[in-house]
Amino acid sequence: MSTPVLEIHGVHKSFGTLDVLRGIDLTAQAGTVTVILGPSGSGKSTLLRSINHLEKVDRGRVRLDGELIGYRQAGGKLHELGERHILEQRARIGFVFQNFNLFPHLTALENVAEAPIAALKKPKTQVYDHARELLARVGLADKTDVYPRQLSGGQQQRVAIARALALEPRLILFDEPTSALDPELVGEVLDVLRDLAAAGTTMIVVTHEIGFAREAADTVIFMDEGRIVEQGPPAQVLDHPRHERTQSFLSKVL
Ligand code: ADP
Ligand code: MG
Repeated sequence: MSTPVLEIHGVHKSFGTLDVLRGIDLTAQAGTVTVILGPSGSGKSTLLRSINHLEKVDRGRVRLDGELIGYRQAGGKLHELGERHILEQRARIGFVFQNFNLFPHLTALENVAEAPIAALKKPKTQVYDHARELLARVGLADKTDVYPRQLSGGQQQRVAIARALALEPRLILFDEPTSALDPELVGEVLDVLRDLAAAGTTMIVVTHEIGFAREAADTVIFMDEGRIVEQGPPAQVLDHPRHERTQSFLSKVL
């Protein structure tokens, strides 16, 4: 099998005396969708943040396309990479947050174009053309010159997705992308996620949207108390969960 896009091995993370991640192993092959479910406080966001080194793990390794994230190995020891190198690695991993996190003083188009202009030093006309294409792809061709405050939550989240795509990442992490939205706006964002999945984007999605998990996921992971309790194809984990904790969680969200 080819090198996985993402390989997480033996990851531990504590905050003080609180063990938030207690030995996480996870592999994502190119073009696959992994949905992570789990109760609040189980460590889902910390896991996503550990993938792109926003959190430094205490133990374990994260690899993107086989390359160690955040560290280089020399003489049997790990040395943390410099800030520039970490930012360069982070540019290969898109991140979409619950609360969109758009720049309020930039238009939709400028939000999407900002990172490629700053990071890649590409010609502006080329970046803006690509940004327009990406906004069209998420159904916002007519909103290029609008500021975030003039957009609905669903539209803001679609801008955030276009922005994540702008650096042509190898992997996109979604942390509860629809949790902050009014119910009637959830569908338009999930539609964009489905389109990305169908186009072969490698995605890790933390969500409570079980219907989306059922349709779009290749693998569903159930996390509890910093561990992966159960993982497998949606039909297995969602319809025939083996663990009592998975069953109990699903009975509450379904
Ligand atoms: P989830 O996303 O599954 O709800 P989180 O990863 O956000 O869980 O949090 C897991 C646990 O770690 C929670 O108890 C949370 O309060 C704690 N935690 C997260 N980030 C920090 C931090 N920076 N400092 C201290 N505790 C934290
Ligand atoms: Mg979270």
